Amino acid sequence: MKTFHTEPDCLFCKIAAGEIPSTKVYEDESVYAFRDINPQAPTHILVIPREHIVSAGALNAGNSVYAAKCLEAVAKIAEREGLSNGFRLISNCGPEAGQTVPHLHFHILAGRELGEKMV
Ligand code: 5GP
Ligand code: ZN
Repeated sequence: MKTFHTEPDCLFCKIAAGEIPSTKVYEDESVYAFRDINPQAPTHILVIPREHIVSAGALNAGNSVYAAKCLEAVAKIAEREGLSNGFRLISNCGPEAGQTVPHLHFHILAGRELGEKMV
């Protein structure tokens, strides 16, 4: 089984490892997805790599495969959750963007009219 680089004090590393409980939506060898504890839409799912990567700003040729795996998982989750009316995919990167957990994650938001603001 593949081993991943994880950080002992990282909340999302602990969630992916099952050390902190979460409502699982999807998992595979490289990716874990779960419901956001403070949902901003009827469907609000967080998709994270098992590999500890701080944010999209820390991606490089050596670890970008994990971002790709997350995006493949997003497509599968959207299908399974029946998000055919659309969803918004957000990855906050750094303090000015409001990133509060320094482990790469993609928010899937759906189930209400999200509007045209913020791209
Ligand atoms: P960020 O603000 O870093 O883009 O997103 C972090 C997200 O993680 C927030 O939407 C927040 O509600 C969610 N979150 C923080 N702690 C927990 C937790 O312990 N469990 C779950 N399920 N979500 C969490
Ligand atoms: Zn982590």
